[in-house]
Amino acid sequence: MTTPVTVAVTGAGGQIGYALLFRIASGQLFGEVPVRLRLLEIAAGRAAAEGTALELQDGAFPLLHSVDVTEDARSAFDGVSAALLVGARPRSAGMERADLLEANGGIFGPQGAALNAGAADDVRVLVVGNPANTNALIASAHAPDIPAERFTAMTRLDHNRAVAQLAAKLGVPVSAIDGVIVWGNHSASQYPDLSHATVNGRPATELVDEGWLADEYIPRVANRGAEIIAVRGSSSAASAASAAIDHLHDWVHGTGGHWTSAAVVSDGSYGVPTGLISSFPVRSVDGRWEIVPGLDIDTFSRERIDASVAELVAEREAVRALGLL
Ligand code: NDP
Repeated sequence: MTTPVTVAVTGAGGQIGYALLFRIASGQLFGEVPVRLRLLEIAAGRAAAEGTALELQDGAFPLLHSVDVTEDARSAFDGVSAALLVGARPRSAGMERADLLEANGGIFGPQGAALNAGAADDVRVLVVGNPANTNALIASAHAPDIPAERFTAMTRLDHNRAVAQLAAKLGVPVSAIDGVIVWGNHSASQYPDLSHATVNGRPATELVDEGWLADEYIPRVANRGAEIIAVRGSSSAASAASAAIDHLHDWVHGTGGHWTSAAVVSDGSYGVPTGLISSFPVRSVDGRWEIVPGLDIDTFSRERIDASVAELVAEREAVRALGLL
């Protein structure tokens, strides 16, 4: 029998965890490989995670080797090849940004250290919990023995939304669209960029006008999370879980020459300061993310990329000042 792969999900008792775990158990992440699941929760979420574990058992998934629920990060991350860091401290009423960053530093710093202590050599880390880019940066800073390239944050949901909104506007299937990019932070400052996108091989910029792009498309994609909350009554969960699967699936199996978007550590490409975890156009080749090189960046794009990257720089400064890096 193939050796099982160990996958940890934090915040496993939450909404995203509920949508995510069944897809991992059914083999949608690693393919036909048995999976050991580790569900990390805090005390308040433990019962929900235990309940999810019972339902996972009831799924009788042929590939599901085992499910363990724990409140201890070291046990959760021991031997993991994939860690999906979903649990994070949400912003509560009256909470300042520094308080939010500090609370999350208290979660992601120790989790980075626990990954450093016990994760498998091939570990891949995807941070979903917000502020995702900066939480990934904190975790990476506490894991000096794990290459920084293994720490990523999710902008795939933003990317998927950007593709889907363009497809809806033009009345084409999403499969007709290629070359969409989301740059920067997973926040309202993100920049969904169509300047390199094609629709059935034609440049997207020939098919939509600039007014729609600036006034409708970009804000719609960037604020889609709020739109979902307004309509559904709670935040997006299944689409976030689906995007997390897409991100890790593509990282493991490759993007086949196409590109997608992921927040990865900057090597200085496109003027993004080295070391920041920022969203870029990426390809997955031989199990590694590569930033797509050499794209022309027009003035419209430059301004928006710079604004989102400036927000990431400010977040990095804030967590540095708090001693979290
Ligand atoms: P969700 O499962 O809905 O969301 C979890 C995190 O994902 C939040 O930080 C959320 O950010 C973020 N997120 C990122 N992208 C998206 C997106 N597109 N749509 C929605 N959310 C997104 O939260 P729940 O409250 O249901 O569950 C969180 C669980 O985490 C709880 O069970 C809690 O106990 C647990 N937890 C675990 C920790 C641990 O394991 N150490 C630490 C802290 C909490 P945002 O808040 O901005 O929506």
